[in-house]
Amino acid sequence: MVRQMGKHEAHRFSTLLTAQQVRDLLATDEGIDQAIDWCRRSAVTKVYVETFRSGYLAPRETLLHVKERFDSAGFDVSGCVTTTVVGKQSTGWDLISCYTDSTTQDHLGEIFEFTADLFDEIMIDDFLFTDCQCADCDRARQSETINIGDKTYPAPGDTWADYRCELMVHLSRDRILTPAKRVNPNVRLIIKFPEWYGRFHEQGYEILRQTADFDRIWVGTETRDYDDPGWGGRPQYQAYFVMRWLDGIGGEKCGGGWYDPYGTTKMSYVEQARQTVLAGAKESLLFCYGSLLKDTGPDNVEALRSCTPELMQVAEEVSRRQIVGVAAYMPANSLAGDEPHVFDFVGMMGLPLAPCHKFPHDARAACFSVHALKDSKLPQRLSTLIAQGVPVLITDGLAVRLDGRVQLDAPNVSILPVRGEPKSLLDMPQGALDAIRLPLLAPLGRTFEATNRVALYLFTDGGWVVENFNDRDVAVVLDGAEMTVAARGWIYEWNG
Ligand SMILES: [Zn+2]
Repeated sequence: MVRQMGKHEAHRFSTLLTAQQVRDLLATDEGIDQAIDWCRRSAVTKVYVETFRSGYLAPRETLLHVKERFDSAGFDVSGCVTTTVVGKQSTGWDLISCYTDSTTQDHLGEIFEFTADLFDEIMIDDFLFTDCQCADCDRARQSETINIGDKTYPAPGDTWADYRCELMVHLSRDRILTPAKRVNPNVRLIIKFPEWYGRFHEQGYEILRQTADFDRIWVGTETRDYDDPGWGGRPQYQAYFVMRWLDGIGGEKCGGGWYDPYGTTKMSYVEQARQTVLAGAKESLLFCYGSLLKDTGPDNVEALRSCTPELMQVAEEVSRRQIVGVAAYMPANSLAGDEPHVFDFVGMMGLPLAPCHKFPHDARAACFSVHALKDSKLPQRLSTLIAQGVPVLITDGLAVRLDGRVQLDAPNVSILPVRGEPKSLLDMPQGALDAIRLPLLAPLGRTFEATNRVALYLFTDGGWVVENFNDRDVAVVLDGAEMTVAARGWIYEWNG
């Protein structure tokens, strides 16, 4: 009965049972009963049962029993692997491995064979990267060669990003996808991309080829609390931006978002859920069962549960519409320079962004940052867009780098003063924000006046959402209509 719930809805909730939680919380039927009960109370209709994490492989019999129990209770059940502490330790982060090492490569293959024998779908948590700079890695990088077992592949380019992307693409094919599908031809593998999208390729996440290779992709939407001393610094809009951007790359392959309770309050936890839903995710994976039972978990889950019906409703409306907005161009594998995550802060300024990885030739309004320099045809393409009269917003960092190559002194060009510090955009006063928004929203047929940290989302058919990330109520004016948005609240209207 539970299985039918969620199947045909626009959104569903799932959770992860980590390998250690399988051992510590789910080794008895009583523990499994408690987990099933928790899932039911949390509107969770799917669980991912993890086989491996941080050097620990859960016992096959326990995994099978957990799988069968959840299955017969009506849940969808998939597997998961977290590639931390797989083998030879990286010279960087101690959870990460050296994948130039052939023994480590082989062990990775064994983990996926083991998991594919148990499950028809396997999620891979976002540690499938490497930051190793050991002598073996360095030698391989300089020789521009990848060795996976006895196979050799060329790796053009001698930067760490070049080497790691090529290494992880071939490693994923030869030690994850191929062995898993040999053991279980029906298995589908999901690569989860982290929320730190600005450095993907530097650590070996090659989003274009890996999205093509894997069956599905997933997106980290764990922004946590901006002001949290340990976990903070990421504005809420980041989750929306990265999910929409990867959705543009993955299309139908893009499965859902994933967030956790670390460094969150009730409000910032619920905001992660809202952002994931607004970004069009089909599923929210609540990481993870064990963490949600302690510290900030129980309070935050309680807050989420009270919002679940509304979130499902909003997801339903979002699923029927396309977003409308100011094209935000970020090519794949692009470099941020001194503007890391600038779009996340631009979104906090109340500009409804439409993230894209291809040049937005047809945009009605567009925003460009240093990232766009990855596009070798940028000067001519941008010049054409400007000549067409399309209102464009260009960061000061990009403007300096385009000096003399693109005519920027046109009336439809505005320069955004990032000054090498994207978070400073959160301090921009309303007068300046209103002035920046006015020309960019005009071609979309909208006007919006609001203070900072109030996001606007626009949809086809005239639907809109205004979300207030301030700790106080704010008065905004949308299309001439004044309205009040409660502190950390949202309001929306769907016209169809
Ligand atoms: Zn290494």
